[in-house]
Amino acid sequence: MNVKTIAQIGGDGIGPEVVKQGRKAADAAMAGSGTELRWREFPWGAGHYRSTGEILPENAVEELSHCDSIYLGAIGDPSVKPGVLERGILLTLRFAFDMYVNLRPARAFPKVPIPIEGAAEKGIDLLVVRENTEDLYMGLGGTGDGEIDQIIEAKRGLYNLTGHVSMSTGHRMALQMGIATEPAVRRITATACGYARGRGERSILLATKANAMPHLYGFWEEIAADEAKGQGMAMETMNVDAMCYHAVRRPWEFGTILCPNLFGDIVSDLFAGITGGLGVAAGGNQGDGIGMFEPIHGSAPDIAGTDSANPLAAILSASLMLRSLGEGKGATAIERAVETFLNESDQDRLPKEMGGQAGTEEIGDSVASII
Ligand code: ATP
Ligand code: MG
Repeated sequence: MNVKTIAQIGGDGIGPEVVKQGRKAADAAMAGSGTELRWREFPWGAGHYRSTGEILPENAVEELSHCDSIYLGAIGDPSVKPGVLERGILLTLRFAFDMYVNLRPARAFPKVPIPIEGAAEKGIDLLVVRENTEDLYMGLGGTGDGEIDQIIEAKRGLYNLTGHVSMSTGHRMALQMGIATEPAVRRITATACGYARGRGERSILLATKANAMPHLYGFWEEIAADEAKGQGMAMETMNVDAMCYHAVRRPWEFGTILCPNLFGDIVSDLFAGITGGLGVAAGGNQGDGIGMFEPIHGSAPDIAGTDSANPLAAILSASLMLRSLGEGKGATAIERAVETFLNESDQDRLPKEMGGQAGTEEIGDSVASII
């Protein structure tokens, strides 16, 4: 028996409620497959922080490094200053395990309202692969005096910007720098090519903005094109603004989309909106080692404990996790079961969020029984 150990972090609010349903689905999908999922539960989140004063124990990373994947509900609670737990847990783990890939699939599911005419019939099934470590997210820059002035002075000399109005009148200034390195662009491009291949596609689409930011994104285009070629995959490029325009008009034409960090962040939410929102939006972070999979929605404290959370996003995140563990068959079984559940359920058996009356647990049981 092949054993995969999953670290289960339910977290806060509806997190534990939806994670329980995803776990049920994953176990059902693995039954009889020759792979057994072994779950290890960790209590981290707002409750743990309030009772112990600790965000993550010192040995957290060491403990998790013995697991194959992390399955997470949601972190965040109104009683804790926004960002403290998110940074202290999610970002810590992302950096500790160098999870350089952010995966955001977007699919049109039956009965989930799609705000674009014709899209439900034509079908949307795409994957955004976002670089997770570089670009404008490295905290490089500053405001006001000091370092930044030196940079701007240097630029003035270089580009003869003394006549540039905004730089010559002594305003306060801010600078944020984006970075791209060849190894980072290569590894994310290779990942995108791998996923595209798995989806039966022959090309990937790179969304950047090389016309306006040639240093950063011209470099991206050059390296990504070379890497894709080496991977035997064709690559198209599109400016990200044009891509957004086409995305809301013809979302069914997209497959695997590769994006630098900032554009990936924005484009992922765009597609979550296009495909019907938080209830079905799954996500994952992945590196060469352990990955971390979670629904896109937050802890939704307003509905926690009321058995009304829609667990489908968490269930689909479990599917994404199985795929990353090489369990593609199980992953597909979960996706199909969610589709069947939505297709075959009468209105009142649907999630409350979709106008139905089914509770969280009831939906989880229905999906698991279909698998
Ligand atoms: P965070 O900062 O943690 O992302 P947020 O403020 O973005 O939190 P969410 O927790 O994602 O908010 O919730 C936004 C709204 O969507 C809330 O009203 C919440 O009740 C609703 N919501 C989120 N997830 C679900 C779900 N799985 N089922 C039903 N409703 C949900
Ligand atoms: Mg949010």
